[in-house]
Amino acid sequence: MKITSDPARVIELRDVVKTYAGRVPVHALQPVNLLVGKGESVAIVGPSGSGKSTLLNILGLLDTPTRGAYFLEGVDVTAADEVTRGAVRGQKFGFVFQSFHLLPHRTVAENVELAMMYARIPAVERRERTQNALETLGLIHRREADPRELSGGERQRTAIARAICLNPEVLFCDEPTGNLDSHNTGIVMDILADLHENGQTIVLVTHNLELAKLMRRTVSVRDGMVSERVNS
Ligand code: ADP
Repeated sequence: MKITSDPARVIELRDVVKTYAGRVPVHALQPVNLLVGKGESVAIVGPSGSGKSTLLNILGLLDTPTRGAYFLEGVDVTAADEVTRGAVRGQKFGFVFQSFHLLPHRTVAENVELAMMYARIPAVERRERTQNALETLGLIHRREADPRELSGGERQRTAIARAICLNPEVLFCDEPTGNLDSHNTGIVMDILADLHENGQTIVLVTHNLELAKLMRRTVSVRDGMVSERVNS
């Protein structure tokens, strides 16, 4: 059978269920059907404990569904092994997650470049992309700083620079404005809005309803159940 890919259907979940095993199993996601099209931006919102991180981790291939199917660009990768999943994450996805820390004792520019080294992007190209990303994100004056010397907003922007330098098919963000003051929240919101305008596919989890409104669609999760609407 010939498998035809469909780049417009970047991620599709079909009847995805997630149950965490344990003495009392937790039904974190009820059957979810979700299509993320190329160039779309999706905000996942909902109360704490509702299943947002679970959904984000499954969409980012960081966790596997208990049941249901995951299609990447039209190809069923539900049963892919961890090596394949890791390769897909590296080639197609970018993550701005609190848990993916910046490296201390490395400069901002080195942090951004390192991710590209792992992706085997040639040195000249790496330097050019780093320069462009740091300029776009207003960090050029901080390029030689150690991440420990940065403000929360600068750190978040460095993490975004690191992710977008890899030109990911999908940019995943977990609470990108969490822990930021209102000034930096505004800056990060503008950056994400610009990325969306420029056709970047974005999936993010947020408590910030203003940020959610900047995305094309809002997916609400409540007790593991998903409903969605298109933002006007
Ligand atoms: P949110 O991101 O909306 O706060 P989560 O997706 O983290 O919600 O959690 C959804 C539900 O699944 C919660 O009841 C949570 O306690 C539970 N849960 C999350 N991760 C695990 C895990 N690794 N093992 C067991 N239960 C989990």
